Amino acid sequence: MGIDVWLPRDEPDTPVAQASAGGMDWDELRDCVTNCTLCELAQSRTNTVFGVGNPDANWLIIGEAPGAEEDRRGEPFVGRAGKLLDEMLRAIGESRDSVFIANILKCRPPNNRDPKPDEAAACRQYLERQIELVQPRIILAVGKIAAQNLLGSQETVGRMRGQPHDLGGIPLVVTYHPAYLLRSPSQKSKSWDDLCMAMRLAAEYNA
Ligand code: URA
Repeated sequence: MGIDVWLPRDEPDTPVAQASAGGMDWDELRDCVTNCTLCELAQSRTNTVFGVGNPDANWLIIGEAPGAEEDRRGEPFVGRAGKLLDEMLRAIGESRDSVFIANILKCRPPNNRDPKPDEAAACRQYLERQIELVQPRIILAVGKIAAQNLLGSQETVGRMRGQPHDLGGIPLVVTYHPAYLLRSPSQKSKSWDDLCMAMRLAAEYNA
């Protein structure tokens, strides 16, 4: 009869409506990640992998994404690569409990494929909030995927390592992923150089 009926629209269940991690405290952020359905990885994951360690850490270690074992246990870097990461941390006087360890993605990509850009984009807000909450003195990006995503670069690790970077005012160092170092142990000395540079930058940083 020419009369428009205006009905309230249901809030759409979209990424924008579902999550905005800015301003969340640790518990809110953890809950949000646990219940996240922003990308298709929510369907195939066993557990989300939020990250572990000291919420006030000086060092923030950022890897790629959970693998099969991490997905099962809900903890990052628990396989062989994780053991090597633990050794690297011990070498610089740190430990899994003293640093904070997180990944670009909180959920495992099936068959350990690389994260898709939309998955990394959906997850980015969680990592950004973790960085804000931890306020580290140094960020160590381990591996190509972490470094490329954090720095918005397409370069190889070989070209990104060996020089200090900056992420929102926080010094960032790129080094090889421990899984790569397991396959190419001859690169370990370069990784040690990266850790030494990171230690120096952390000491110099005025938080
Ligand atoms: N590799 C990563 O980059 N992160 C993990 O948590 C495990 C393996």
